[in-house]
Amino acid sequence: MSDQHKYQRILLKLSGEALMGEADYGIDPKMIGRLADEIIEVQRAGIQIGVVIGGGNIFRGAGLAAAGMDRVTGDHMGMLATVINALAMQDAIEKRGGFARVMSALPIHDVAEDFIRRRAIRHIEKGRIVLFAAGIGNPFFTTDSAAALRAVEMNADVLLKATKVDGIYTADPAKDATATRYDKLSYDEVIERKLAVMDTAAIALCRDDRMPMRIYDMTVPGNLMRIMHGEPIGTLVSAD
Ligand code: UDP
Repeated sequence: MSDQHKYQRILLKLSGEALMGEADYGIDPKMIGRLADEIIEVQRAGIQIGVVIGGGNIFRGAGLAAAGMDRVTGDHMGMLATVINALAMQDAIEKRGGFARVMSALPIHDVAEDFIRRRAIRHIEKGRIVLFAAGIGNPFFTTDSAAALRAVEMNADVLLKATKVDGIYTADPAKDATATRYDKLSYDEVIERKLAVMDTAAIALCRDDRMPMRIYDMTVPGNLMRIMHGEPIGTLVSAD
C-alpha cells in the first residue's frame, strides 16, 4: 500500500441506477465509462478493489412482484440484471486497459466465473478488478446485503456505497428542504432512525463485523479517489 492512501482493499457498491446516468432505464455508456475510469484509477494507485453491482436499472424482484409476477422469479430476473451490468462494466474496464473478472453467485459458466472466495482474493491481489454479480445468489435479498457480505468475506477495509446523494440525511433531501447531512453515525443510529440508506440486513452484518461504511456521491467525478486520500466525503457509519 502506498503511504498516501488510507485503504489497502475496498469494496464498492454501485447500484444499477448509478449506471443509468441521465437515462431512466438501462446503461448509459458515458456513465459506465466514467465510473470505469475512476475504478481503474484507484486500482492503479495500488488499492485492491472489488465491486458489487446492482440491477435496479433493469429489474427489481419487488417491483416485478408488485406487478403480479412470482417474487422468486422476479428476484432471479433481478439477479440476472446484475450479471448484465457486471458484463458491461467488465467490458468498459477492459476497453480502458484495466483487468476485470465477473464472478457470479449464480453459476453461468459460459458468461462468468463462479464466486469462489479464495479465487476472488487471488484476483484482486493480482490487480484484477473483481465484479461481484448476482448478489448473494438467493431471492429475497438485495445487492446491498451482497455488498456487506462480500466486504466482510474479502476482509475489505471499508464498504463504500456510491449513491446520487452526498451522504445520509435526517430526511430525504429531495422532499424536505430542512434535511441536514450527517458526517458520522453508528450502525444502530442508522437502524433505529430508519435512515433509508441500505437494508437492515446489510447494516447489521457490517455492525457485527465492525465493517466501516461510507456513503458518498458518485455523481461528482473524482470522489472515489478523494476518499482514498482520506477526505471525509459523505457520511461514515462505523463503530467508533
Ligand atoms: N436480488 C436477489 N438476491 C440478491 C441480490 C439481488 O434476489 O442477493 C435481486 C432482487 O430482485 C433485486 C435485484 O436483484 O431487486 C436487483 O438488485 P438491487 O435491487 O439490489 O439493485 P440496485 O438497487 O443496487 O440497483
